[in-house]
Amino acid sequence: MTGIDREKEFKKEYKKGNESKKEKISRVAMPEQDPAVRNKNFSEVTLGYSEEDALREASRCIQCKNPGCIKGCPVEIDIKGFISLIQEKKFDEALEKIRERNGLPAICGRVCPQEDQCEKECILGVKGEPVAIGRLERYVADREMSREMNHITEGTEKCNMSGVTRECTKEKVAVIGSGPAGLTCGAELAKMGYRATIFEALHKPGGVLVYGIPEFRLPKEIVRKEIDYVKNLGVKVEVNMVIGKALTIGDLFDSGFKAVFISTGAGLPYFMGIPGENLNGVYSANEYLTRANLMKAYCFPEYDTPIIKGRRVAVVGGGNVALDSARTAKRLGAENVYLIYRRSEKEMPARDEEIEHAREEEIEFKLLTNPVKISGKNGRINKVKCIKMELGEPDLSGRRRPVPVEGSEFDIEVDVLVMAIGQGPNPLLISTIPELELTEKGNIKASPVTGKTSMKGVFAGGDIVSGAATVILAMGAGKDAARAIDDYIRTGIL
Ligand SMILES: Cc1cc2nc3c(=O)[nH]c(=O)nc-3n(C[C@H](O)[C@H](O)[C@H](O)COP(=O)(O)OP(=O)(O)OC[C@H]3O[C@@H](n4cnc5c(N)ncnc54)[C@H](O)[C@@H]3O)c2cc1C
Repeated sequence: MTGIDREKEFKKEYKKGNESKKEKISRVAMPEQDPAVRNKNFSEVTLGYSEEDALREASRCIQCKNPGCIKGCPVEIDIKGFISLIQEKKFDEALEKIRERNGLPAICGRVCPQEDQCEKECILGVKGEPVAIGRLERYVADREMSREMNHITEGTEKCNMSGVTRECTKEKVAVIGSGPAGLTCGAELAKMGYRATIFEALHKPGGVLVYGIPEFRLPKEIVRKEIDYVKNLGVKVEVNMVIGKALTIGDLFDSGFKAVFISTGAGLPYFMGIPGENLNGVYSANEYLTRANLMKAYCFPEYDTPIIKGRRVAVVGGGNVALDSARTAKRLGAENVYLIYRRSEKEMPARDEEIEHAREEEIEFKLLTNPVKISGKNGRINKVKCIKMELGEPDLSGRRRPVPVEGSEFDIEVDVLVMAIGQGPNPLLISTIPELELTEKGNIKASPVTGKTSMKGVFAGGDIVSGAATVILAMGAGKDAARAIDDYIRTGIL
């Protein structure tokens, strides 16, 4: 649909709306912790809508005949339908409507880049601000969770969010990796009656949702509860199981699994290859965030995790991972946190909301700047030499290529440096399966529609196929693969 078509449709739909819908209501703001307070704690930054906020925001939706928002959602949630149920105050039904397509709504309501997906297609965005679809999704999911928590604190009953665990009776399917792709694939298979087992290498399930995205953006309790929902559907989760080491893919087939879904993510950090990266105090974002999140470094002294505190911390990169690292460093007590990024703010891949939050939390942006050398004393980093950059012609990504400005080098004194310049496919498992076809970058070659790989009975999806992407795209891949696995098991045709 072109911009003009969208505008025409907007006018048509808007005319159809009743009087109260025509009333101009601006997008309802999300309450947040004060930046000066929140940059010293790990509690969630955004506080969520109240019922009144949610009803008011839902009332802005004009219920388009051909809703673009649904097409903008990679898992095609019936957004129009769930918002209409909120308008009628049928909150439980609204959540069920979302869950028809998405088993992790409290997570997606928080971390999906809605501004580039469903909300981008919202007709209200033509003239003003789109409906806050993500915030409404979060509201209905959180509402159910808070009810459960109240039950538990009151001791009245042990509430099981989704009733008793379902019993699945069909064939066994193995899922490797418990990030959003694996959890979704497992959940979809269980809904179809398959006995799905997710094998996870770490001691906690959730993938990046647990070890990467920090508590202040995605509370771990929320992730735990959404994983409980998946378990209640009948999915088994086995942690501390490194497939490729503890068991091979062959072992899985030998023990009766009819198909395997590989969703091992992009957990291999990239470094810049500049001198000094081996000094103590230089971390990959992956290690830094895992120590902070999964090993609870932020709970010092209760958890004595060796880490990473520095008075002056620099983070290299411009994506969500870089901002998460910088904001974590601030909360761990750093006085100065620098974000070093080689392009300008316009080219930063992180979400606008995260950039704004980081600025409010006093992260110092060093834009058009690139590290060239790290120096240290007694094996520990003490400064990073940087060079100023300017933007040249667009590169293959369409963004203007950063070019060094000769003679513009300068030093920044730091105690800790975190590299957040991207991650590649986790090689641990795939290096043990030579018959699996890979791309040049080392990702698994798989059909974008079905997740089928070059190996019979083996499917793959999420970051291990696409490269580092988003939660919702990983979930979409898990869902597509579950359908294809069902076809494969029923028909035996690959
Ligand atoms: C810090 C950070 C912030 C991010 N922020 C956002 C955001 O705000 N919004 C967004 O949409 N996306 C965000 N992303 C990206 C998003 O989290 C990923 O795209 C998504 O998690 C990919 O899902 P996945 O299931 O493919 O893999 P992962 O989430 O990486 O999960 C893979 C799992 O497989 C396990 N595994 C690996 N090898 C084995 C093995 N051999 N045996 C058993 N298990 C194994 C791993 O331990 C891991 O638990 C962020 C990523 C990071 C790192």
